[in-house]
Amino acid sequence: MKKIEHIGIAVKDLDAGNEVYKRLLGKSHYKIEEVKSENVKTSFFKVGPNKIELLEATDPSSPIAKFIEKRGEGIHHIAYAVKDIRKEMKRLEREGFILLNKEPKRGADNKLVCFVHPKTANGVLVELCQEIK
Ligand code: ZN
Repeated sequence: MKKIEHIGIAVKDLDAGNEVYKRLLGKSHYKIEEVKSENVKTSFFKVGPNKIELLEATDPSSPIAKFIEKRGEGIHHIAYAVKDIRKEMKRLEREGFILLNKEPKRGADNKLVCFVHPKTANGVLVELCQEIK
């Protein structure tokens, strides 16, 4: 793992969340992107070498809608940048982690991503992400 790439925060309302994080970080988001396969709309903020990703559900079936229903708004996942996502996935499986997808999938922000089940990572949903060149 290279570094923490971003921290994902589940929000009920992306516009309202963008306003809060603009005031908090002193700058606006640099992009908004919808990920149709996950039924989420995301916005990204840069904080030094890391990013904050806000996620809003676009459909009640979205994992974000379910998360907010169960736990309220808050930290949803921590994403780590990796060089070779398939290699990391194999390594984590060998280490006993449960991967939520068997193949890397296309995530927001031009990344291949894979999620690790929170029950095998001390209650935290982990995202691996590899930049698509
Ligand atoms: Zn993410």
